[in-house]
Amino acid sequence: MSGLADQQDGAAPPRPASRTRVMTIIAQDPAVQRDGRIVRAAATVPVDRLEPGPRSHRFHVVDYDGTSGVLHPAADLADPREPDPRPARWTYADRFAQASDEVLLGDFAFHAQNVYAIAARTLARLEFALGRRIEWEFRSHQLYLVPHAFVEANAFYSRDDCGLFFGYLPQPDGTTVHTCLSHDIVAHETTHAILDGLRPRFMEPGLPDQPGFHEALGDIVALLSVFSLPELIEFALTTEQDARNRVETGNDLTEQLAQGILFGVAEQFGSTTSGVRGSALRRSVKLDPNAAWLGDPGFQEPHRRGEILVAALTRGLVKMWTGRLAQLADRGAMSVRAAAEAGAKAAEHLLTMFIRALDYAPAVELEFDDVLDAMLVADAVVAPDDAHGYRDAVREAFGTYGIVQPTDRIVDVAAAPLYYDHVNATALRTNPDEVFRFVWQNLDALGLCPEYELEVAAVRPAVRIGPDGLLVEEVVADYVQVLDLTGTQAGERGIGLPHSVSGDTPIQIWGGGTLIFDQFGRLKFHQRKRLDDWDRQSRRVAYLAHRGLFDTRNRLGFSLGASRGLPFADLHAPDRGIEERW
Ligand SMILES: [Zn+2]
Repeated sequence: MSGLADQQDGAAPPRPASRTRVMTIIAQDPAVQRDGRIVRAAATVPVDRLEPGPRSHRFHVVDYDGTSGVLHPAADLADPREPDPRPARWTYADRFAQASDEVLLGDFAFHAQNVYAIAARTLARLEFALGRRIEWEFRSHQLYLVPHAFVEANAFYSRDDCGLFFGYLPQPDGTTVHTCLSHDIVAHETTHAILDGLRPRFMEPGLPDQPGFHEALGDIVALLSVFSLPELIEFALTTEQDARNRVETGNDLTEQLAQGILFGVAEQFGSTTSGVRGSALRRSVKLDPNAAWLGDPGFQEPHRRGEILVAALTRGLVKMWTGRLAQLADRGAMSVRAAAEAGAKAAEHLLTMFIRALDYAPAVELEFDDVLDAMLVADAVVAPDDAHGYRDAVREAFGTYGIVQPTDRIVDVAAAPLYYDHVNATALRTNPDEVFRFVWQNLDALGLCPEYELEVAAVRPAVRIGPDGLLVEEVVADYVQVLDLTGTQAGERGIGLPHSVSGDTPIQIWGGGTLIFDQFGRLKFHQRKRLDDWDRQSRRVAYLAHRGLFDTRNRLGFSLGASRGLPFADLHAPDRGIEERW
């Protein structure tokens, strides 16, 4: 937090005492009302120096309407009582804490505050779990947030344009639906940008789980963030008579009832943005456990695919919560408040577990079983004891949807005979060339074939805090491998080809992995998606061909290159067939 720009006559600039500030936002979306009034929330947002926009060091709200060509004035959120404009950039006054519904709906300065606050706290939540700053996947420190970008009930992230673009749609009754006022749409789009910064290769053409994960992440972050507020669960528990009786009489809350509480919370998500927002979360939470969904053609489309992962995680949350309640009941410590706090703690832990899994996930070719694998292994590193049985709950819940932990993808290599000579442990923490040197020296031990081009894509330090308060320091490096083949060559290697792929169709196949080093630069884990897993490559080619994802040169599976923002605009375009979705 440098205050250099604010210094006058050598005097230190005024700095805010707190690391956070509270901003009024719309809690879910304008359709969610209590006593005839839009439900607001006080969002805790990291303190930052705010230029008009608002514009912080990570975000820049630009209120440009591409449809009308109008640039609306930048919102100045500084405290107007502060006379000097320069130190005032550190001040903030929440003008909307007592504002009427009409002001929230009609004042574009509030829209700017709403979109900024939700994006900033979403980024902060993910950075907290990962223990480091997250970079954007484009050459700017600031992500543009465009709250009234175009006339359409749609919103999307574009890497090429370095921003999130929110549409609006005038309604026949004279009102306007603003997607920038929907909490889960803003959080969802922000997580697309964050995940793209963390795992840019997840935008490449892969198996359906990969884009499905991109869609699921935002919904999971939104749902678990809300569920980690004990006030909200307490409210749900006190209104649900049967649940309250059970809690008050010390009977266990059954999974069915706990699931019902979760339904109640999810029900409010995107219940309507006056009819244009789909019901992704509600549908996910109600998706019955069934291993058949993964192979169901109806669940190949990315948003629908993502629902399976959301469903597995929410089922895991219910198991974690009811498990904690049973422990409380045994100790005779049950009350509505205690039950609500147990639910909030379970949600908080699950969210952290889920976000941390990103570091142990492969750099390419992500599948849902990799997500489970990464969650379980990463959690065991920071919380070896698992006193509440969380990992068993998650394993069991994923199992009911046919997602089973693979046995050979994350290999514990702490005792493997690896060659560390010539490797500089300090350079290894930040330098892809040094990590590549380590990989090159250990190709055989790591089971990597020198025939396939290999690139160390990113090296990131991570610091996590376990439940015992101890720090776990790691360096996470990921690499990708690429091989270009013709259809004939692919067939010779054992890749099954569908009818639409001919012998001279160019095909690009991918592999890769993640290396987790400890604080001394010693490799602990090797997460691996083998390039020569011909079964996976066959499934990928079949899926891409089935969806007709040939590029303009009739090639299959090739990197999408520069125009990678586009798929999300396509994915989020309204489609009556699958409901409009974000
Ligand atoms: Zn999306």
